[in-house]
Amino acid sequence: MPRIDEKLLPVYEDVLRRNAGETEFHQAVEEVLESLGLVVAKHPEYMDNALIERICEPERQIIFRVPWADDKGQTHINRGFRVQFNSALGPYKGGLRFHPSVNVGIIKFLGFEQTFKNALTGLPIGGGKGGSDFNPRDRSDGEIMRFCQSFMTELYRHLGEYTDVPAGDIGVGAREVGYLFGQYKRLTNRYEAGVLTGKGLIYGGSRARTEATGYGTVYFVDQMLKTRRESLEGKRAIVSGSGNVAIFAIEKIKEFGGKAVACSDSSGFIVDEDGIDLELLKEIKLVRRERISEYARLKGAGAYFTDQGTIWQVPCDVALPSATQNELNGKDAEVLIRNGVMAVGEGANMPCTPEAVRLFQNANVLFGPAKAANAGGVATSALEMQQNASRDSWTFEETEARLAMIMRRIHDSCAETAESYGAPGNYVLGANITGFVRVAEAMEALGVI
Ligand code: GLU
Repeated sequence: MPRIDEKLLPVYEDVLRRNAGETEFHQAVEEVLESLGLVVAKHPEYMDNALIERICEPERQIIFRVPWADDKGQTHINRGFRVQFNSALGPYKGGLRFHPSVNVGIIKFLGFEQTFKNALTGLPIGGGKGGSDFNPRDRSDGEIMRFCQSFMTELYRHLGEYTDVPAGDIGVGAREVGYLFGQYKRLTNRYEAGVLTGKGLIYGGSRARTEATGYGTVYFVDQMLKTRRESLEGKRAIVSGSGNVAIFAIEKIKEFGGKAVACSDSSGFIVDEDGIDLELLKEIKLVRRERISEYARLKGAGAYFTDQGTIWQVPCDVALPSATQNELNGKDAEVLIRNGVMAVGEGANMPCTPEAVRLFQNANVLFGPAKAANAGGVATSALEMQQNASRDSWTFEETEARLAMIMRRIHDSCAETAESYGAPGNYVLGANITGFVRVAEAMEALGVI
């Protein structure tokens, strides 16, 4: 049963009714509404004008057909999505995900989360998300390009630097953003760099954008540890996933004096007691696009690969789930707690199940929720938009320094909010309330929208 305040239960029931079967979206809404009971008790005005109902309903949902031809000339059909969730604080902003699991409920949950995450950055960006059930695995470069071109041929009419600004997510990296941008430019005859972020450096991308989500998650965890007079120095970490988020989280952990000993992909996980060799991991995952088992094969002694059990069995001080939603459940949380985990930071979106989150909180484990802990990626996207708008390009150091400052501010505002609501150290509550209040205040100011 959801632990939602009775005043807010009708809102939740409406969400269930309007979005039947969309379990991930229900889960994300439930988690936020659970935090809002305290807010509406203090500020009953937020119950007025169906404000919370409006926040739970996307402003616009676009679903479209994406036809494309494979290398043999065979035509395929995929479904494309863009959920423009909330534009009270700025143009819709959020990534595109290409993965066979994508459906409208997953995009809606991601867009909902994105709205509060983006508000937490303090930068002028609304929330949205999109993608397709297209499976990029084993597709040639030409197939990927044709898919991206077809996807953009429909989507471009809904985008614009002041309207909606997509970026990457799972299955969409610099290569895909390049093809998408190329097609947008052809269709509109405009070099509108600020319409997409995560671009390559040569055509308007920002330095440190690729690294930003992973780095930001580690900055956030470091801030949480500091509240207990701890640091990452000498700590053992495990980071699930092996995409951009995981790779650059591992890199930053090392810079902070910690050691990441395990990472994974959908086929299994590797453990390397020497600490993960970043050059090797980058070569396998970013250049060759191969399975993670290759790491153990090439590294040889000291490392192993297994597809048995889960990565969470590997004992650690710090765990960063950075693969995908609901990848860490109650059982995994119990194992981590038993093995003495001190801090968990969500690099992916909603990677911990609600049961896992409760277990961590009850065990007094520092827990950084995705909205706050992985906001560094989208924050740096907003910095990319800023550079595009001023036709400027900052150094890596300057961009990273701004990212670090933004992550510190996010941490502090979540911590202060949690404290002021009588729940010190509860970053879930702090993030949900801080993000909600910013969106709600903007919506109130703009009239009934
Ligand atoms: N997909 C990333 C996220 O979940 C980044 C979105 C963006 O940069 O717009 O926040």
